[in-house]
Amino acid sequence: MYAGPRALTEHSVYVSIGGMPIVSPGGGTGSPGGGGPRPGELPRPGELPRPGELPRTADAVVVGGGTVGGWCAYFLRRAGLRRVVLVEQGTLGQGASSRAAGVVRTQGGTPWAVRLGEWSRRFYLGQAAELGIDSGFIPHGYLLPCFTEVEVAAARERMAMQRALGVEVAWLGPDEVDAACPALAPGQTLGATYCAHDGYLHPPRNVTAYAVALATTGVIVAERTRFTGVTTRPAAAGGAGATITGVTTSAGSVAAPLVVLTGGPELAAVGRLAGLRIPAGGARHQVAVTEPHPDLSPERLPMLFDLTAGLYWRPEEGGMLFGMSNPGEPPGEARTVDLAYLERMRERLAVLVPVTAGLGLRRLWAATIDYTPDHLPVIGPATTAGGRVDGLYVACAGGHGMMWGPAVAKAVSDLATSGGSEVVDVADLGLDRFDAAGRSRLAADPVALPFPGSAPAGP
Ligand SMILES: Cc1cc2nc3c(=O)[nH]c(=O)nc-3n(C[C@H](O)[C@H](O)[C@H](O)COP(=O)(O)OP(=O)(O)OC[C@H]3O[C@@H](n4cnc5c(N)ncnc54)[C@H](O)[C@@H]3O)c2cc1C
Repeated sequence: MYAGPRALTEHSVYVSIGGMPIVSPGGGTGSPGGGGPRPGELPRPGELPRPGELPRTADAVVVGGGTVGGWCAYFLRRAGLRRVVLVEQGTLGQGASSRAAGVVRTQGGTPWAVRLGEWSRRFYLGQAAELGIDSGFIPHGYLLPCFTEVEVAAARERMAMQRALGVEVAWLGPDEVDAACPALAPGQTLGATYCAHDGYLHPPRNVTAYAVALATTGVIVAERTRFTGVTTRPAAAGGAGATITGVTTSAGSVAAPLVVLTGGPELAAVGRLAGLRIPAGGARHQVAVTEPHPDLSPERLPMLFDLTAGLYWRPEEGGMLFGMSNPGEPPGEARTVDLAYLERMRERLAVLVPVTAGLGLRRLWAATIDYTPDHLPVIGPATTAGGRVDGLYVACAGGHGMMWGPAVAKAVSDLATSGGSEVVDVADLGLDRFDAAGRSRLAADPVALPFPGSAPAGP
């Protein structure tokens, strides 16, 4: 059994995120080639706060500098809002977004998942033209194998739904699976669905991509600034709900008619600061990378998700990157690597890909992944026991921020600026799908990690 250090190793891997150049508030002055705001729409230099200063007014404030908040602030600027402020308690990408495995899958278990995955995939493919930088997306091909007849029936049903939505997904019989993935021990599956367009990105590069997008479109990024609450105006006498008037932060307040809350694994706490009950949680998720081996070269190793075991992999630097979540573990912040669970997953991995049994690990980290009880995103207006808070919105990718993040960000930006979105029908994805105990009225997405089935909503 691997007996390395018990401390988290993630900082040694992603320390570069903390060392990234800070995007100076209002530092951007131009639009990259493509569809960004026209120069005439950008705030004039005199209108911008000096670096380090938080403006006192804005057209929109986004809370949280992860992939959802980062891309959301960019899309709000692209929608024509003049002064968009992004408030991040630490540094851009310091949450789940820099620590992810980077898997981008369009083979979702619900039409929402498929649409969000497909929109994000296309966005990644178009980034270089739109922004002059990209998130490092590589189409690689993704297998979802079946080990029982029940799984085969469910996979065929899913495939029909995915195809109807335009995803080019194919059914591979057992021999075809073995041929497509020579690293796999032969004869183990009853077949698999396969999508050649699915792939993976490089999460730290995605953080760089949205940092650049924010800078070049003139979003005002306030790092090391903690969101502490919202300010609202109550409805007129007799009316329910309230209207947002701004946010309070550790650097003072900002008046704004539009506020989007994100927070990834900390979204419930962000919600509490705004008086909202958001049933989203955080749980430990582990990722390891083996040393290189010729049998694991990318052409021999399509990506694969063993749904039953909650184990997935992709190629990484001549070796295999594999990720796992323990469904038996209570939710909470990840503080250490669970070596016993890693060992269990390595045993499963060795059955599937025998060559991994003798390989050392070159990297290993644990981090807190966001989840929702139904494994679906939250994209919607804020609702409290006292009614709706006009102008306040919530966005969460439910643990799928690499595959859905940009689409979730675009959808909430659309919803906030125009009342709906062509990315995905958001009508059912709001907070009002959850009851007081945090239970969702939607069936859970069946193609997801074994996330916990409930999340403490509080307060
Ligand atoms: C180990 C691991 C592997 C993963 N692998 C994949 C994968 O392969 N594919 C995939 O699709 N997804 C994956 N995910 C999930 C994905 O990383 C997340 O869904 C995504 O990063 C969430 O983005 P976010 O912007 O919502 O949250 P985050 O990136 O966590 O950003 C939230 C930000 O909000 C900030 N914040 C919190 N509270 C406040 C406050 N009060 N004031 C100001 N700022 C605040 C935080 O500091 C943080 O920077 C993985 C996650 C982990 C942990």
